[in-house]
Amino acid sequence: MISGARSPEAVLHEVFGFSSFRGLQAEAVQTVMRGEDVLVLMPTGGGKSLCYQVPALCREGMGLVVSPLIALMDDQVAALRQLGVNAAALHSELEPDELARIRADLSSGDLDILYISPERLLSPGTTRYLAQRRISVIAIDEAHCISAWGHEFRPEYRALASLPELFPRVPRIALTATADPRTRNDILMALGMPQARQLIASFHRPNLFIAARPKMQEMRQLEEALARFGDAASIVYCGSRNKTERVAKGLNDRGITALPFHAGLAPQEKRAALLRFRRGEPLVIVATIAFGMGIDRPDVRCVVHLDMPASPEAYYQQIGRAGRDGQPANTLLLYGGEDIARARYWLEQSSASEAEKRVMQARLESMISLSEAVSCRTQALLACFGEHLEQPCGHCDNCLHPVSTFDGTDAARKALSAVYRTGQN
Ligand code: ADP
Ligand code: MG
Repeated sequence: MISGARSPEAVLHEVFGFSSFRGLQAEAVQTVMRGEDVLVLMPTGGGKSLCYQVPALCREGMGLVVSPLIALMDDQVAALRQLGVNAAALHSELEPDELARIRADLSSGDLDILYISPERLLSPGTTRYLAQRRISVIAIDEAHCISAWGHEFRPEYRALASLPELFPRVPRIALTATADPRTRNDILMALGMPQARQLIASFHRPNLFIAARPKMQEMRQLEEALARFGDAASIVYCGSRNKTERVAKGLNDRGITALPFHAGLAPQEKRAALLRFRRGEPLVIVATIAFGMGIDRPDVRCVVHLDMPASPEAYYQQIGRAGRDGQPANTLLLYGGEDIARARYWLEQSSASEAEKRVMQARLESMISLSEAVSCRTQALLACFGEHLEQPCGHCDNCLHPVSTFDGTDAARKALSAVYRTGQN
Protein backbone atom coordinates (compact mmCIF):
# COMPACT_ATOMS: atom_id res chain seq x y z
CA MET A 1 0.00 0.00 0.00
CA ILE A 2 1.36 3.39 -0.87
CA SER A 3 -1.47 5.66 0.28
CA GLY A 4 -0.78 7.92 3.16
CA ALA A 5 0.00 11.48 4.02
CA ARG A 6 1.60 12.89 0.90
CA SER A 7 0.73 16.05 -0.96
CA PRO A 8 -1.16 15.76 -4.24
CA GLU A 9 1.79 17.31 -6.08
CA ALA A 10 4.17 14.76 -4.60
CA VAL A 11 1.90 11.91 -5.68
CA LEU A 12 1.50 13.42 -9.13
CA HIS A 13 5.28 13.55 -9.61
CA GLU A 14 6.41 10.49 -7.74
CA VAL A 15 3.71 8.02 -8.65
CA PHE A 16 2.43 9.23 -12.00
CA GLY A 17 5.55 10.97 -13.24
CA PHE A 18 3.66 14.06 -14.46
CA SER A 19 5.03 17.55 -13.96
CA SER A 20 1.76 19.41 -13.39
CA PHE A 21 -1.99 19.02 -13.14
CA ARG A 22 -3.98 19.73 -16.26
CA GLY A 23 -7.02 21.99 -16.51
CA LEU A 24 -9.45 21.45 -13.67
CA GLN A 25 -7.61 18.50 -12.17
CA ALA A 26 -5.96 20.51 -9.38
CA GLU A 27 -9.28 21.99 -8.28
CA ALA A 28 -11.02 18.63 -8.39
CA VAL A 29 -8.27 17.06 -6.30
CA GLN A 30 -8.32 19.89 -3.76
CA THR A 31 -12.08 19.66 -3.38
CA VAL A 32 -11.89 15.96 -2.60
CA MET A 33 -8.95 16.55 -0.27
CA ARG A 34 -11.17 18.92 1.72
CA GLY A 35 -13.69 16.10 2.00
CA GLU A 36 -16.32 17.72 -0.24
CA ASP A 37 -18.44 16.17 -2.98
CA VAL A 38 -17.79 17.23 -6.56
CA LEU A 39 -19.01 16.61 -10.07
CA VAL A 40 -16.33 16.72 -12.76
CA LEU A 41 -17.23 17.20 -16.40
CA MET A 42 -14.36 16.81 -18.79
CA PRO A 43 -14.25 15.55 -22.33
CA THR A 44 -12.91 12.06 -22.89
CA GLY A 45 -9.14 12.11 -22.66
CA GLY A 46 -9.30 15.16 -20.43
CA GLY A 47 -7.72 13.32 -17.51
CA LYS A 48 -10.60 12.48 -15.20
CA SER A 49 -8.93 9.44 -13.63
CA LEU A 50 -6.24 11.44 -11.85
CA CYS A 51 -8.96 13.52 -10.16
CA TYR A 52 -9.79 10.54 -7.93
CA GLN A 53 -6.60 8.50 -8.15
CA VAL A 54 -4.46 11.23 -6.62
CA PRO A 55 -6.74 11.91 -3.60
CA ALA A 56 -7.12 8.15 -3.13
CA LEU A 57 -3.35 7.94 -2.71
CA CYS A 58 -3.07 11.05 -0.52
CA ARG A 59 -5.93 10.54 1.88
CA GLU A 60 -5.86 7.80 4.39
CA GLY A 61 -7.73 4.63 3.48
CA MET A 62 -8.67 2.87 0.30
CA GLY A 63 -10.23 4.58 -2.72
CA LEU A 64 -13.36 3.02 -4.19
CA VAL A 65 -14.07 3.51 -7.88
CA VAL A 66 -17.43 2.54 -9.34
CA SER A 67 -17.12 1.74 -13.01
CA PRO A 68 -19.65 0.30 -15.48
CA LEU A 69 -17.38 -1.82 -17.65
CA ILE A 70 -15.09 -4.66 -16.74
CA ALA A 71 -12.74 -3.84 -19.61
CA LEU A 72 -12.39 -0.27 -18.35
CA MET A 73 -11.62 -1.46 -14.83
CA ASP A 74 -9.07 -4.00 -15.97
CA ASP A 75 -7.25 -1.41 -18.10
CA GLN A 76 -7.04 1.06 -15.26
CA VAL A 77 -5.91 -1.55 -12.78
CA ALA A 78 -3.17 -2.76 -15.10
CA ALA A 79 -1.93 0.80 -15.65
CA LEU A 80 -1.91 1.56 -11.91
CA ARG A 81 -0.08 -1.65 -11.04
CA GLN A 82 2.65 -0.71 -13.47
CA LEU A 83 3.10 2.46 -11.45
CA GLY A 84 3.44 0.49 -8.25
CA VAL A 85 -0.05 1.24 -6.99
CA ASN A 86 -1.84 -1.69 -5.40
CA ALA A 87 -5.10 -1.67 -7.32
CA ALA A 88 -7.66 -4.38 -7.98
CA ALA A 89 -11.02 -4.78 -9.69
CA LEU A 90 -13.93 -6.57 -8.10
CA HIS A 91 -16.56 -7.72 -10.58
CA SER A 92 -18.54 -10.73 -11.70
CA GLU A 93 -15.98 -12.19 -14.08
CA LEU A 94 -13.15 -12.96 -11.71
CA GLU A 95 -11.50 -16.37 -11.52
CA PRO A 96 -11.76 -17.91 -8.03
CA ASP A 97 -8.04 -17.46 -7.38
CA GLU A 98 -8.14 -13.80 -8.39
CA LEU A 99 -11.07 -13.26 -6.08
CA ALA A 100 -9.25 -14.97 -3.22
CA ARG A 101 -6.20 -12.77 -3.75
CA ILE A 102 -8.26 -9.57 -3.75
CA ARG A 103 -10.06 -10.69 -0.58
CA ALA A 104 -6.71 -11.32 1.08
CA ASP A 105 -5.43 -7.88 0.04
CA LEU A 106 -8.62 -6.31 1.30
CA SER A 107 -8.33 -8.03 4.65
CA SER A 108 -4.75 -7.00 5.18
CA GLY A 109 -5.63 -3.42 4.29
CA ASP A 110 -3.06 -3.42 1.51
CA LEU A 111 -5.17 -2.09 -1.32
CA ASP A 112 -4.82 1.53 -2.42
CA ILE A 113 -7.63 1.59 -4.96
CA LEU A 114 -10.46 -0.85 -5.54
CA TYR A 115 -12.43 -0.68 -8.78
CA ILE A 116 -15.83 -2.19 -8.35
CA SER A 117 -19.03 -2.71 -10.31
CA PRO A 118 -22.09 -1.02 -8.81
CA GLU A 119 -23.93 -4.26 -8.13
CA ARG A 120 -20.89 -5.67 -6.33
CA LEU A 121 -20.43 -2.56 -4.26
CA LEU A 122 -24.01 -2.61 -3.07
CA SER A 123 -24.31 -6.32 -2.43
CA PRO A 124 -24.92 -6.80 1.31
CA GLY A 125 -21.76 -8.84 1.88
CA THR A 126 -19.54 -6.21 0.32
CA THR A 127 -21.12 -3.21 2.03
CA ARG A 128 -20.92 -4.89 5.43
CA TYR A 129 -17.32 -5.65 4.81
CA LEU A 130 -16.36 -2.24 3.41
CA ALA A 131 -18.20 -0.39 6.17
CA GLN A 132 -15.48 -1.55 8.55
CA ARG A 133 -12.67 -0.20 6.36
CA ARG A 134 -11.45 3.29 6.06
CA ILE A 135 -12.49 4.64 2.65
CA SER A 136 -10.64 7.68 1.34
CA VAL A 137 -12.91 8.65 -1.54
CA ILE A 138 -15.71 7.14 -3.61
CA ALA A 139 -15.45 7.89 -7.31
CA ILE A 140 -18.40 7.30 -9.61
CA ASP A 141 -16.86 7.07 -13.05
CA GLU A 142 -18.99 7.40 -16.19
CA ALA A 143 -21.58 8.94 -13.89
CA HIS A 144 -23.98 9.67 -16.76
CA CYS A 145 -24.83 5.96 -16.61
CA ILE A 146 -27.11 6.91 -13.71
CA SER A 147 -29.30 9.05 -15.95
CA ALA A 148 -32.25 7.21 -17.42
CA TRP A 149 -32.33 9.81 -20.16
CA GLY A 150 -28.69 9.43 -21.04
CA HIS A 151 -27.49 7.34 -23.90
CA GLU A 152 -25.74 4.77 -21.71
CA PHE A 153 -28.20 4.19 -18.88
CA ARG A 154 -27.29 1.45 -16.39
CA PRO A 155 -30.14 0.70 -13.99
CA GLU A 156 -27.62 -0.65 -11.44
CA TYR A 157 -26.24 2.87 -11.09
CA ARG A 158 -29.54 4.06 -9.61
CA ALA A 159 -28.83 2.23 -6.38
CA LEU A 160 -25.76 4.39 -5.82
CA ALA A 161 -28.14 6.86 -4.19
CA SER A 162 -27.60 4.91 -0.97
CA LEU A 163 -23.86 5.63 -0.84
CA PRO A 164 -24.00 8.48 1.70
CA GLU A 165 -25.94 6.29 4.12
CA LEU A 166 -23.55 3.41 3.71
CA PHE A 167 -20.40 5.51 3.75
CA PRO A 168 -21.14 8.69 5.64
CA ARG A 169 -18.56 11.47 5.49
CA VAL A 170 -16.67 9.88 2.61
CA PRO A 171 -16.31 12.47 -0.17
CA ARG A 172 -17.78 11.48 -3.52
CA ILE A 173 -16.54 12.49 -6.91
CA ALA A 174 -18.76 11.85 -9.92
CA LEU A 175 -17.10 12.02 -13.34
CA THR A 176 -18.47 12.08 -16.84
CA ALA A 177 -17.79 13.32 -20.34
CA THR A 178 -21.50 13.75 -21.04
CA ALA A 179 -22.19 17.34 -20.42
CA ASP A 180 -25.66 18.42 -21.27
CA PRO A 181 -27.27 20.32 -18.40
CA ARG A 182 -30.15 17.88 -18.05
CA THR A 183 -27.90 14.86 -17.56
CA ARG A 184 -25.75 16.89 -15.18
CA ASN A 185 -28.77 17.64 -13.01
CA ASP A 186 -29.96 14.10 -13.19
CA ILE A 187 -26.60 12.88 -11.88
CA LEU A 188 -26.60 15.32 -8.97
CA MET A 189 -30.18 14.45 -8.02
CA ALA A 190 -29.77 10.71 -8.38
CA LEU A 191 -26.65 10.72 -6.24
CA GLY A 192 -28.31 12.96 -3.68
CA MET A 193 -25.66 15.65 -3.94
CA PRO A 194 -27.46 18.70 -5.34
CA GLN A 195 -25.06 21.04 -3.53
CA ALA A 196 -21.94 19.41 -4.91
CA ARG A 197 -19.35 21.61 -6.51
CA GLN A 198 -19.43 21.36 -10.29
CA LEU A 199 -16.22 21.61 -12.26
CA ILE A 200 -16.93 21.91 -15.93
CA ALA A 201 -14.18 21.91 -18.51
CA SER A 202 -14.59 23.29 -21.97
CA PHE A 203 -15.72 20.71 -24.48
CA HIS A 204 -14.14 22.51 -27.38
CA ARG A 205 -11.80 20.23 -29.31
CA PRO A 206 -10.00 22.53 -31.70
CA ASN A 207 -8.19 19.68 -33.45
CA LEU A 208 -11.45 18.15 -34.70
CA PHE A 209 -12.70 19.24 -38.08
CA ILE A 210 -16.45 18.80 -37.93
CA ALA A 211 -18.66 18.67 -40.97
CA ALA A 212 -22.13 17.46 -41.89
CA ARG A 213 -23.58 16.90 -45.29
CA PRO A 214 -26.80 15.56 -46.76
CA LYS A 215 -26.44 11.95 -47.76
CA MET A 216 -26.06 11.67 -51.51
CA GLN A 217 -23.81 8.81 -52.50
CA GLU A 218 -22.84 7.47 -49.18
CA MET A 219 -19.95 5.20 -50.23
CA ARG A 220 -18.33 7.87 -52.32
CA GLN A 221 -18.71 10.47 -49.58
CA LEU A 222 -17.31 7.97 -47.09
CA GLU A 223 -14.28 7.18 -49.22
CA GLU A 224 -13.52 10.86 -49.65
CA ALA A 225 -13.66 11.46 -45.91
CA LEU A 226 -11.45 8.46 -45.16
CA ALA A 227 -8.92 9.49 -47.80
CA ARG A 228 -8.18 12.80 -46.14
CA PHE A 229 -5.53 11.34 -43.86
CA GLY A 230 -4.50 8.41 -46.03
CA ASP A 231 -3.89 5.09 -44.31
CA ALA A 232 -5.07 5.65 -40.77
CA ALA A 233 -7.40 4.27 -38.15
CA SER A 234 -10.98 5.35 -38.64
CA ILE A 235 -14.39 4.59 -37.18
CA VAL A 236 -17.57 4.57 -39.25
CA TYR A 237 -20.86 4.55 -37.36
CA CYS A 238 -23.98 3.00 -38.91
CA GLY A 239 -27.54 2.80 -37.69
CA SER A 240 -27.92 -0.97 -38.08
CA ARG A 241 -25.93 -4.18 -37.79
CA ASN A 242 -26.67 -5.17 -41.37
CA LYS A 243 -25.35 -1.91 -42.62
CA THR A 244 -22.04 -2.28 -40.78
CA GLU A 245 -21.50 -5.61 -42.55
CA ARG A 246 -22.47 -4.20 -45.90
CA VAL A 247 -20.32 -1.09 -45.62
CA ALA A 248 -17.31 -3.02 -44.31
CA LYS A 249 -17.57 -5.33 -47.29
CA GLY A 250 -17.92 -2.36 -49.64
CA LEU A 251 -14.75 -0.83 -48.24
CA ASN A 252 -12.80 -4.08 -48.43
CA ASP A 253 -13.91 -4.43 -52.07
CA ARG A 254 -12.40 -1.00 -52.66
CA GLY A 255 -9.12 -2.06 -51.09
CA ILE A 256 -9.66 -0.39 -47.72
CA THR A 257 -9.18 -2.74 -44.77
CA ALA A 258 -12.40 -2.64 -42.76
CA LEU A 259 -14.01 -4.75 -40.05
CA PRO A 260 -17.62 -4.70 -38.92
CA PHE A 261 -18.35 -4.39 -35.20
CA HIS A 262 -21.73 -4.80 -33.51
CA ALA A 263 -23.37 -6.51 -30.56
CA GLY A 264 -24.50 -9.44 -32.71
CA LEU A 265 -20.96 -10.66 -33.45
CA ALA A 266 -19.59 -13.71 -31.68
CA PRO A 267 -17.47 -12.74 -28.65
CA GLN A 268 -14.27 -13.99 -30.31
CA GLU A 269 -14.97 -11.92 -33.43
CA LYS A 270 -15.45 -8.84 -31.29
CA ARG A 271 -12.29 -9.54 -29.36
CA ALA A 272 -10.31 -10.08 -32.54
CA ALA A 273 -11.55 -6.80 -34.04
CA LEU A 274 -10.77 -4.90 -30.84
CA LEU A 275 -7.34 -6.44 -30.64
CA ARG A 276 -6.48 -5.43 -34.18
CA PHE A 277 -7.83 -1.96 -33.61
CA ARG A 278 -5.94 -1.48 -30.38
CA ARG A 279 -2.70 -2.83 -31.78
CA GLY A 280 -2.38 0.23 -33.92
CA GLU A 281 -3.19 -1.23 -37.36
CA PRO A 282 -4.38 1.33 -39.90
CA LEU A 283 -7.88 0.00 -40.28
CA VAL A 284 -11.51 1.07 -40.47
CA ILE A 285 -13.98 -0.20 -37.89
CA VAL A 286 -17.53 -0.05 -39.22
CA ALA A 287 -19.69 -0.16 -36.14
CA THR A 288 -22.98 0.37 -34.42
CA ILE A 289 -23.03 2.27 -31.16
CA ALA A 290 -21.89 -0.99 -29.55
CA PHE A 291 -18.37 0.21 -30.36
CA GLY A 292 -18.01 2.78 -27.67
CA MET A 293 -17.08 3.23 -24.09
CA GLY A 294 -13.52 2.34 -23.28
CA ILE A 295 -12.25 2.58 -26.83
CA ASP A 296 -9.08 4.49 -26.31
CA ARG A 297 -6.84 4.66 -29.33
CA PRO A 298 -5.11 8.00 -29.58
CA ASP A 299 -4.46 8.10 -33.33
CA VAL A 300 -7.96 7.69 -34.80
CA ARG A 301 -7.88 10.16 -37.69
CA CYS A 302 -11.44 10.01 -38.89
CA VAL A 303 -14.96 9.34 -37.56
CA VAL A 304 -17.82 9.18 -40.05
CA HIS A 305 -21.51 8.84 -39.28
CA LEU A 306 -23.40 7.24 -42.11
CA ASP A 307 -26.61 7.64 -40.13
CA MET A 308 -27.58 10.38 -37.77
CA PRO A 309 -26.99 9.71 -34.03
CA ALA A 310 -29.96 10.05 -31.69
CA SER A 311 -28.63 13.03 -29.75
CA PRO A 312 -25.87 15.64 -29.72
CA GLU A 313 -24.40 13.86 -26.66
CA ALA A 314 -24.04 10.58 -28.53
CA TYR A 315 -22.65 12.45 -31.53
CA TYR A 316 -20.11 14.32 -29.44
CA GLN A 317 -18.96 11.15 -27.69
CA GLN A 318 -18.55 9.37 -30.99
CA ILE A 319 -16.67 12.07 -32.88
CA GLY A 320 -14.65 12.55 -29.69
CA ARG A 321 -12.98 9.21 -30.36
CA ALA A 322 -11.01 10.92 -33.13
CA GLY A 323 -7.81 12.83 -32.52
CA ARG A 324 -7.25 11.95 -28.86
CA ASP A 325 -3.57 12.55 -29.52
CA GLY A 326 -4.37 16.21 -30.15
CA GLN A 327 -3.39 16.00 -33.82
CA PRO A 328 -5.87 17.10 -36.48
CA ALA A 329 -8.68 14.67 -37.17
CA ASN A 330 -11.57 14.62 -39.57
CA THR A 331 -15.23 13.94 -38.84
CA LEU A 332 -18.19 13.79 -41.17
CA LEU A 333 -21.87 13.35 -40.46
CA LEU A 334 -24.09 12.28 -43.34
CA TYR A 335 -27.77 12.86 -42.79
CA GLY A 336 -30.82 12.40 -44.91
CA GLY A 337 -34.56 12.61 -44.69
CA GLU A 338 -34.91 8.89 -44.24
CA ASP A 339 -32.74 8.90 -41.12
CA ILE A 340 -34.84 11.52 -39.52
CA ALA A 341 -38.08 9.80 -40.40
CA ARG A 342 -36.70 6.50 -39.12
CA ALA A 343 -35.51 8.06 -35.86
CA ARG A 344 -38.89 9.66 -35.29
CA TYR A 345 -40.62 6.40 -36.08
CA TRP A 346 -38.51 4.44 -33.57
CA LEU A 347 -39.11 7.04 -30.97
CA GLU A 348 -42.84 6.71 -31.48
CA GLN A 349 -42.63 2.94 -31.22
CA SER A 350 -40.36 2.89 -28.19
CA SER A 351 -41.67 1.64 -24.87
CA ALA A 352 -40.29 4.69 -23.05
CA SER A 353 -42.62 6.71 -20.85
CA GLU A 354 -44.21 9.84 -22.28
CA ALA A 355 -41.85 12.02 -20.25
CA GLU A 356 -38.82 10.13 -21.53
CA LYS A 357 -40.11 10.30 -25.06
CA ARG A 358 -40.38 14.05 -24.79
CA VAL A 359 -36.75 14.27 -23.74
CA MET A 360 -35.63 11.91 -26.49
CA GLN A 361 -37.70 13.92 -28.92
CA ALA A 362 -36.03 17.15 -27.82
CA ARG A 363 -32.61 15.58 -28.23
CA LEU A 364 -33.44 14.30 -31.64
CA GLU A 365 -34.65 17.74 -32.67
CA SER A 366 -31.38 19.33 -31.47
CA MET A 367 -29.47 16.71 -33.41
CA ILE A 368 -31.45 17.56 -36.53
CA SER A 369 -30.82 21.30 -36.07
CA LEU A 370 -27.15 20.59 -35.58
CA SER A 371 -27.04 18.59 -38.82
CA GLU A 372 -28.75 21.38 -40.66
CA ALA A 373 -26.85 24.26 -39.03
CA VAL A 374 -25.58 26.83 -41.51
CA SER A 375 -23.43 28.88 -39.14
CA CYS A 376 -20.43 27.73 -37.07
CA ARG A 377 -21.06 24.08 -36.30
CA THR A 378 -18.69 24.00 -33.34
CA GLN A 379 -20.64 26.81 -31.71
CA ALA A 380 -23.90 24.96 -32.38
CA LEU A 381 -22.50 21.73 -30.92
CA LEU A 382 -21.14 23.36 -27.78
CA ALA A 383 -24.39 25.26 -27.30
CA CYS A 384 -26.09 21.87 -26.91
CA PHE A 385 -23.98 21.44 -23.77
CA GLY A 386 -24.69 24.90 -22.44
CA GLU A 387 -21.27 26.16 -23.50
CA HIS A 388 -20.94 29.46 -25.27
CA LEU A 389 -18.03 29.76 -27.70
CA GLU A 390 -17.31 33.48 -28.15
CA GLN A 391 -16.04 33.37 -31.73
CA PRO A 392 -16.87 31.04 -34.61
CA CYS A 393 -14.32 28.20 -34.54
CA GLY A 394 -12.92 29.09 -37.95
CA HIS A 395 -12.31 25.51 -39.01
CA CYS A 396 -15.60 23.61 -39.25
CA ASP A 397 -17.29 23.10 -42.63
CA ASN A 398 -19.55 26.11 -42.25
CA CYS A 399 -16.73 28.42 -41.17
CA LEU A 400 -14.46 27.30 -43.99
CA HIS A 401 -17.11 27.18 -46.69
CA PRO A 402 -19.98 29.44 -45.78
CA VAL A 403 -23.07 28.07 -47.43
CA SER A 404 -25.94 29.83 -48.97
CA THR A 405 -29.05 28.43 -47.38
CA PHE A 406 -29.57 25.83 -50.05
CA ASP A 407 -27.27 22.95 -49.17
CA GLY A 408 -29.50 19.99 -49.40
CA THR A 409 -31.50 21.02 -46.39
CA ASP A 410 -34.34 21.64 -48.75
CA ALA A 411 -33.66 18.38 -50.50
CA ALA A 412 -33.69 16.62 -47.16
CA ARG A 413 -36.98 18.24 -46.21
CA LYS A 414 -38.55 17.21 -49.47
CA ALA A 415 -37.33 13.65 -49.09
CA LEU A 416 -38.66 13.65 -45.57
CA SER A 417 -42.11 14.78 -46.48
CA ALA A 418 -42.14 12.22 -49.28
CA VAL A 419 -41.35 9.52 -46.75
CA TYR A 420 -44.13 10.75 -44.52
CA ARG A 421 -46.60 10.77 -47.36
CA THR A 422 -45.83 7.21 -48.36
CA GLY A 423 -45.42 6.06 -44.76
CA GLN A 424 -42.18 4.21 -45.54
CA ASN A 425 -39.63 3.59 -42.84
P1 ADP B 1 -10.62 10.57 -19.20
O1 ADP B 1 -10.99 9.58 -18.12
O2 ADP B 1 -11.03 11.96 -18.88
O3 ADP B 1 -11.07 10.15 -20.55
P2 ADP B 1 -7.93 9.74 -18.58
O4 ADP B 1 -7.97 9.91 -17.12
O5 ADP B 1 -8.04 8.34 -19.09
O6 ADP B 1 -9.03 10.64 -19.28
O7 ADP B 1 -6.60 10.44 -19.10
C1 ADP B 1 -6.30 10.53 -20.46
C2 ADP B 1 -4.80 10.58 -20.67
O8 ADP B 1 -4.24 11.81 -20.21
C3 ADP B 1 -4.05 9.49 -19.95
O9 ADP B 1 -3.13 8.90 -20.83
C4 ADP B 1 -3.36 10.21 -18.82
O10 ADP B 1 -2.18 9.56 -18.44
C5 ADP B 1 -3.09 11.58 -19.41
N1 ADP B 1 -3.01 12.61 -18.37
C6 ADP B 1 -3.96 12.89 -17.45
N2 ADP B 1 -3.58 13.91 -16.65
C7 ADP B 1 -2.35 14.28 -17.05
C8 ADP B 1 -1.41 15.30 -16.60
N3 ADP B 1 -1.69 16.11 -15.58
N4 ADP B 1 -0.25 15.39 -17.28
C9 ADP B 1 0.00 14.59 -18.33
N5 ADP B 1 -0.81 13.62 -18.78
C10 ADP B 1 -1.98 13.46 -18.16
MG1 MG C 1 -12.21 7.89 -17.90
